[in-house]
Amino acid sequence: MSQDKITQIALSHVLLPLPKPISDAKVMTGVQKPMTEVSLLFVEITSQDGHQGMGFGYVLRAGGKAQYAHAQDLAPFLIGEDPNDIPRLWEKMAWQGASVGRCGVAVQAIGAFDTALWDMKAKRAGLSLAKLLGPYRDAVPTYNTSGGYFGTSIEEVCANADRSRANGIRGVKMKVGQPDVAEDIRRVTALRKHLGDEVPIMIDANQQWDRETAMRFGRAVDDLSLTWIEEPVSAHDYEGHAWLNANLDTPIATGEMLSSQESLQQLIDHRSVGFLQPDAPRIGGITPFMSLAGEAAKAGLKLAPHFVMEIHLPLAAAYPGDCWVEHFEWLEPLFEERIEIRDGCMQVPTRPGLGLSISEQTRHWTVASDRYGSA
Ligand SMILES: [Mg+2]
Repeated sequence: MSQDKITQIALSHVLLPLPKPISDAKVMTGVQKPMTEVSLLFVEITSQDGHQGMGFGYVLRAGGKAQYAHAQDLAPFLIGEDPNDIPRLWEKMAWQGASVGRCGVAVQAIGAFDTALWDMKAKRAGLSLAKLLGPYRDAVPTYNTSGGYFGTSIEEVCANADRSRANGIRGVKMKVGQPDVAEDIRRVTALRKHLGDEVPIMIDANQQWDRETAMRFGRAVDDLSLTWIEEPVSAHDYEGHAWLNANLDTPIATGEMLSSQESLQQLIDHRSVGFLQPDAPRIGGITPFMSLAGEAAKAGLKLAPHFVMEIHLPLAAAYPGDCWVEHFEWLEPLFEERIEIRDGCMQVPTRPGLGLSISEQTRHWTVASDRYGSA
């Protein structure tokens, strides 16, 4: 059996500035400050046969330097390995970091390598990542999140929704979970009235309610035909989500804050959600994501991955059940390519691998870089 070898790995730590500070309910209630930048770890892998793979992961707020430092520790262990052996290499990296566990920032470093290895594998095969995984569709319904944050008046939210719809986006998400619950209900009702009955609307409370408040809110909006209510209670309250999911007509969605495949499995086992919201970079990359997606499909769940449309679009395309991809413009400046959107859907890229190349601008936002192996 012929074998390829990883000969070089380049790491970059990138700080992407956001055009304006971002606030959700966690800022409104004082647990977090508005967010002004996204920290990214880029991994570029080169093989002896001349193949290349690029992957990345991200951290919001604290932890980006830890992610980068862990990647510095892991990179030397991949030099000389066959880049095709992805699950084995995932395990090898996890064992190197066994004492920092199989969740959180440890797997978020692993995830960038894992994604780079999948990118290389697809490029080696001359296939897009979706085609390598086996797609069920070549376009995935999409909704916009960035137009419905707090600090945006309901008139602006409605105008942003109209703009998204005019740009071919099907659904609209709005943030809720501020201390004034009645004001939230007014905003959601106004958006439904503005958009009419047919447009999919999702709402996202970012974990700011207790179970009873979430149930009261859910009942108050249950006749608005919302697509889902996201993170109504603590991300780690599997039973609370299950109770709401069983007792409301509106499906519950959650999963973005969980940082391991195992913790998201708990949401499946507890029947906590109608829509599972895994985040591939956050749980260790494409390998654990696809494993989890198999379990979610068996349980009959719908899939709505969190953030990072650049990675999640091909993964959603390979999901057997219904799915949505979240439209976020934030990461667009990092790459040369743009995702095409029309008729309510993101078009799955047909370029080899992830179909992404790092932009020149990204090199200017790079605050640290390291190289391992030799060219
Ligand atoms: Mg959310």
